[in-house]
Amino acid sequence: MNTTMRAARMHAVGEPMRLEQIDLPTPGLGEVRVKVHAVNIVPNLGNILNMWTTWFPEDPLPTLPAVFGLDPAGVIDAVGDGVLDWQVGDRVYVNPGRHCGSCRSCRNGDSINCKSYAFAGYFGFSASALHLLDRYPGGLSEQMLAPAYALVRLPDNLDFEAAARFGYLGTMYSALRKAGAGPGKAVLVNGLSGTLGIGAALLAKGFGITKLYGTGRDKSLLDQVVKIAPDRIETHSLDDGPVDEWIRERTNGHGVDIYIDALGPGAPHETFRAGMRSMARGAVAVDIGAVMGDLPIDIHRMMNQQLTLMGSAWFTAGEGQTMADMVATGDFDLSWLEHKVYPLTDINTAISGIAERNGGFSNFIIDPQS
Ligand SMILES: [Zn+2]
Repeated sequence: MNTTMRAARMHAVGEPMRLEQIDLPTPGLGEVRVKVHAVNIVPNLGNILNMWTTWFPEDPLPTLPAVFGLDPAGVIDAVGDGVLDWQVGDRVYVNPGRHCGSCRSCRNGDSINCKSYAFAGYFGFSASALHLLDRYPGGLSEQMLAPAYALVRLPDNLDFEAAARFGYLGTMYSALRKAGAGPGKAVLVNGLSGTLGIGAALLAKGFGITKLYGTGRDKSLLDQVVKIAPDRIETHSLDDGPVDEWIRERTNGHGVDIYIDALGPGAPHETFRAGMRSMARGAVAVDIGAVMGDLPIDIHRMMNQQLTLMGSAWFTAGEGQTMADMVATGDFDLSWLEHKVYPLTDINTAISGIAERNGGFSNFIIDPQS
């Protein structure tokens, strides 16, 4: 029996990953080991890893050398003591969210707001996340450890490549749920054609959203997104004018019930503010993108119009299970994604950003078994 496995590890910030043989982990109490078949590579992951310690010095990376890799999917190949609901052979997505189980939020059953919350194989949100980061490496290895609480059971019609996209999809799912998306609601998504935004188009049918308005730049890409749900989706290129003017025109001056910002870092603040100005009385805005810095908001209008603005980061394994159920019933169709699968040996090429992307349709995957 093998006692080692192949993994890609980063030894120092800014250096390429190295392929190495490291010890095969043994699952402890409440943990499983997963044979990893797909790991998502988000756009510009290399850039993020290289810049993280500069941008967010207070938020830790795992102790180096470390195995990175968010959003793994695979098959359970060993089960530790005290795991009740999972068996060897189960196909799973591993939610990278890790919590301590002992802080006040965890004890209140609100584990996603754990004070030591960490993205296994990526970074933590506070200094105390380091312990969890070091206990649970990421998915860029043949096998990985995962706590049973992080698992999502995959239905037969959900392949590993699509499941490995659950991180970005789940972020959108959670935002739509928190905002009360459903029949009768008009939703605006800034950045609809991107890796994060396209989730709203894919989820529109499952949520029963009546109207989904989306903005982006590339008109041919936006036209492709409309095809996902042509009876619900309308799009607008920011090159053709401000978001709020377009929304007013489309809604007879009323505005949208839900505004979700899914723009990436470097997006102009004015686009976010125009989204806020597109909100109907009583509407909810959810920020799930990566727009950075301070921006002025008309708080008197927020009060007057009873507007809500919230931030939302990631999603729970329970929410992931609901998404998997929606895939099983056909309400959440991921066949629109265009998978590009690379072997682990190509990790440094894949991680430094792949030039040929078809917007949010492209799904870049590492298969650690190849
Ligand atoms: Zn906690």
